[in-house]
Amino acid sequence: MIFLEVAVAAPVTETLTYGFPAAESHHLQPGTRLLVPLGHRQVTGYLLSIKPAEETAFQVKQISAVLDSKPLFPAGMIPFFRWTANYYNYPLGEVIKTALPGGLTQQSERYITLLAGKERLAEFTSGFDTEKTDWLSDLVERGTLSPAQTRRIWRSHKWRHLLEIWRDEGLIAINDTISAARTGIKTERCVGLTTSTPANAGVKLKMSEKKALALVQDFVEKGLPSPVPIKQLNREYSGAGKALKSLAEKGLVFFAEQQIFRDPFGEEPPFFPEPAQLSEEQLTALAELLPAIDKKDFTPFLLFGVTGSGKTEIYLQAAKKALEAGRSVLVLVPEIALASQLEAHFFSRFGRNVALLHSGLSSGERFDQWHQIMAGEAKIVIGARSAIFAPLTDPGLIIVDEEHDGAYKQEDTLRYHARDLAVLRGKLQQCPVLLGSATPSLSSFHNASTGKYRLLTLANRIENRPLPVVTITDLRQTQKEKTNFPFFSKDLIEAIRNNLRQGDQSVIFLNRRGYANLMLCEDCGNPVKCTHCDISLTLHKNEKVLSCHYCGYQAKSPILCPHCRSTRVREIGFGTERLEEALKLLFPEARIARLDRDTATNRREFIKVLRAVHTREIDILIGTQMITKGHHFPHVTLVGVIWADAGLGIPDFKAGERTFQLISQVTGRAGRGDKPGRVIIQTHQPDHYSITSAEKHDYLSFYAYEMKLRQTLQFPPFSRLVILRFSGANESLVRTAASLTAQAAEKETELQGIILMGPAAAPLVRIKDKYRWQILLKGNDAGRLHRLCEKIVAQPVPAVRTGKVIMVMDVDPESML
Ligand code: ADP
Ligand code: ZN
Ligand code: ZN
Repeated sequence: MIFLEVAVAAPVTETLTYGFPAAESHHLQPGTRLLVPLGHRQVTGYLLSIKPAEETAFQVKQISAVLDSKPLFPAGMIPFFRWTANYYNYPLGEVIKTALPGGLTQQSERYITLLAGKERLAEFTSGFDTEKTDWLSDLVERGTLSPAQTRRIWRSHKWRHLLEIWRDEGLIAINDTISAARTGIKTERCVGLTTSTPANAGVKLKMSEKKALALVQDFVEKGLPSPVPIKQLNREYSGAGKALKSLAEKGLVFFAEQQIFRDPFGEEPPFFPEPAQLSEEQLTALAELLPAIDKKDFTPFLLFGVTGSGKTEIYLQAAKKALEAGRSVLVLVPEIALASQLEAHFFSRFGRNVALLHSGLSSGERFDQWHQIMAGEAKIVIGARSAIFAPLTDPGLIIVDEEHDGAYKQEDTLRYHARDLAVLRGKLQQCPVLLGSATPSLSSFHNASTGKYRLLTLANRIENRPLPVVTITDLRQTQKEKTNFPFFSKDLIEAIRNNLRQGDQSVIFLNRRGYANLMLCEDCGNPVKCTHCDISLTLHKNEKVLSCHYCGYQAKSPILCPHCRSTRVREIGFGTERLEEALKLLFPEARIARLDRDTATNRREFIKVLRAVHTREIDILIGTQMITKGHHFPHVTLVGVIWADAGLGIPDFKAGERTFQLISQVTGRAGRGDKPGRVIIQTHQPDHYSITSAEKHDYLSFYAYEMKLRQTLQFPPFSRLVILRFSGANESLVRTAASLTAQAAEKETELQGIILMGPAAAPLVRIKDKYRWQILLKGNDAGRLHRLCEKIVAQPVPAVRTGKVIMVMDVDPESML
């Protein structure tokens, strides 16, 4: 017997020990899934380590089955999982479950194991027609049914139903195991150069062979990743295929199947050649960065570079260095659809070495990518937030692009921050971490200024292109002008008109979708709210509905006032849909597109609109924050921010930071091509530091001001925060649970030096029929704060224990709502 340390996918904090026959254990490795008994249930567990026998003298249960023939993640990631579970106070098995790609079971094979004794089974099977149930004797004799048998039985509704009853009775277990990876990856035939030359191989070439060889050499010299797709060569020289075959026989070229990449339209992504010359600033940054990658030490870097300063090229050079050292690279991007340009840059430089992990993949594709990464076939992994858990065995560099982006925070189940985990993973797996942004998060820049991170700066745009000229328009003034469209100042209208005349593109930004986000009754003065949430409904005029942006509740429009049944319900406030209507009236000849969650319902729709902007089929693009990130629109010369202070009213200490970042990012969309750009920011608060700093492209003054505020209030980075959220259908139970938890916490000695605020109703007090209360914990001593949280999680109050009230812990919250 050997002993296994197992993390179960269940709300259990500690890892558990199970037994396993030593004779069968030789192939068992950490990272493998197991089926283990837990109480009366059978649950999935993850094998973490094999323990020495003397440590576990007591009685342990045996595992029920080994679910995988090979591990799903490398053993090197286990310390990372342990740390994550500990830091976020989340069960280790659930952390691993979150980390593994969804859809694992879809590629799986089902098989059945007998758990109960023969006698007990006999009670259930007496009177069975044994002719039709030959599988039953197999089950009894061998204790399992093969996947093939199970598939056969599963087709019969009657048997399936019976088996499910048996499972619920605890007689059998029904498990899904993973079969060998399918290769759903598309490949194409390519050709590469060997080290032989006609001279040293002593061969003579025919004309056609010479021509074909020259073509391959030409492609390789142009910097196209080798081997070169034959299709591409054929396009230039139709005789290439035949000539290459004889060249291969002469040992001058070789053939290879390699993975092909297609953009979401099935086309080849654009090719970006390596720039001929790096800028001075790029060279300086790389001189500091590259040696750290060579050494493979944990060093965190913050690459602070204005928009258009060539950060991508730094990523590419750094990645190249890591690959040369024989290691792999993990690249995180806020949302993959938003980063198709970054993808294309990596494909252009590294070709088949790149694997993508994003929400647009089918579960089969995702599974394939996972296995490629695990097998070390994909040396570069690009992915959104969850790719921080990608199974790279030996990462030599972790890159986090747009590190300030809120999309790195997962806001349900395991509430992790992928950027923070990137730094941690670098530390545990001994590799440099490169965080890049034009508007770094306050915490990262703070770490850079205290020397915890090393700061790399790119202060100028490539080729010294100017940053756009920004002007601020005071909306209070505009509203006195009493035009038909009070949300467009005369300046902005004039500027759009000018742009249309010159054939340039304009981007109009407002971080609010829908037509009107407030419907007010003119008779009783009440706003129309969602029946399930304490939130005003938003009018979507095209669809003729009022909809709740938090729970999806919809009511038909027009609506009667729910308070007084009046029909006089007026549209107040405005969203992107209303802007679109207004712009169509103002500029009937313009080609206008809108990009928000209503129009871009999926990645394909999203990219379709982006492409239309690129091909200049669109004159004016209206959008929410979807349009602010990472896009390179060379012909956009005007950006209009409709209401810059829209986010400043939110009761959240990060409101100022987010507003600054958002405006700076959208500002950075202007003037990235040859023509200089112009930005008009409309606001009611023209003197707000977030807005004036964005106007001047002055991150440092924003940083200084914001840091002073944070220090006064002792908010991060001057402290650490944890929010405890309580929610449930019964408000008084929720309130009581929050109060009791607060009282219990106040008795803990750990509370010394920690400020407990609340309990208080959350700013959004009711969502989806659940009442929400919260407690805020604020402290300087991370260890103490952590121990207090551990105690709170370990000793939940009764209503939480019984599940009447849900308590979740948000460590380092991004949102206070
Ligand atoms: P950032 O990510 O900092 O906003 P990018 O990486 O998108 O900036 O670079 C802006 C543009 O400059 C891109 O088109 C890129 O290809 C180009 N570029 C980057 N480095 C150089 C260089 N050394 N020489 C010429 N062009 C460059
Ligand atoms: Zn009313
Ligand atoms: Zn709602």
